[in-house]
Amino acid sequence: MTDPLLSVRNIKKHFPIKGGLLGRQVGQVHAVDGVSFDIAPGETLGLVGESGCGKSTTGRCIMRLIEPTSGELHFQSRDVTRLDGEDLRAMRRDLQIIFQDPYASLNPRHTIGTIISEALVIHGLAKTRAGIEARVVDLLETVGLRADHMRRYPHEFSGGQRQRIGIARALAVEPKLIVCDEPVSALDVSVQAQVINLLEDLQEKFALTYLFIAHDLSVVEHISDRVAVMYLGRVVEIASARQLYDNPLHPYTEALLSAVPIPDPKVKRKRIVLQGDVPSPTNPPPGCHFHTRCPIAQDHCKRVAPTLEQDAMGHWVACHLRR
Ligand code: SF4
Repeated sequence: MTDPLLSVRNIKKHFPIKGGLLGRQVGQVHAVDGVSFDIAPGETLGLVGESGCGKSTTGRCIMRLIEPTSGELHFQSRDVTRLDGEDLRAMRRDLQIIFQDPYASLNPRHTIGTIISEALVIHGLAKTRAGIEARVVDLLETVGLRADHMRRYPHEFSGGQRQRIGIARALAVEPKLIVCDEPVSALDVSVQAQVINLLEDLQEKFALTYLFIAHDLSVVEHISDRVAVMYLGRVVEIASARQLYDNPLHPYTEALLSAVPIPDPKVKRKRIVLQGDVPSPTNPPPGCHFHTRCPIAQDHCKRVAPTLEQDAMGHWVACHLRR
């Protein structure tokens, strides 16, 4: 692998739980519990897991929208967690985010032109009114919208169009890496494909790098070069998309994949139904977090947490039995 654009090292994010009359801390939610991965320039890393596994919190820590409790984040070899002031502002230009619900992230009282031009003004990327307007038109056309859309308001657009506006806003500052936080989860299936195709085209055109977060393995299959699977705040497997879909090693990944429909009716995959619910991140099980639901768990798994280990093919897995 070439030098990574982004290195995430042992990131943890624990949220305090307050209780009682005095509002004292009575516990903590282990939302992210020691996550590490790299993303190479131009790569798309899919980050997948069930709701509440910590994938969106990981994305927000990378963006420094929330502060990680501990760990290191290196972007182009600079420690992002130590940046502040002007350095942090400059870094924010390189790192952008697209949200799941584009409507909630677009100010309903502002026109699309104002929403997109805000970032241009903040970062001093266009000085004159005419220059700003020309850039907004260019961005709208780049994402498949029209110049006259700049005078309209968010409520006048469909979900797919609103996501395109969110993408145009992220592109405005010419970022290097975009965290795509479930960007198609709220869209109809037909519109999902259009938005994913657009993201792929833009990646090629602008040499973008993506962290693509989704709860569904089928969504990330086509767009990802590699996929990381998260369970209860930890990464349990990372591999190239091909390796992961053809030869999943972690029992949790196997179960997730068994639920993904296969287009070829001749190919049958045995459905693995996991027993029980995902344990609460306020009190995660000791040892391997997955042992309470794992069909092949052994006593050892209840006491000792497996570390993420790599094989000769660059396939990482955190499981005592699958190495
Ligand atoms: Fe299952 Fe044990 Fe592997 Fe965890 S370490 S996934 S409990 S076999």
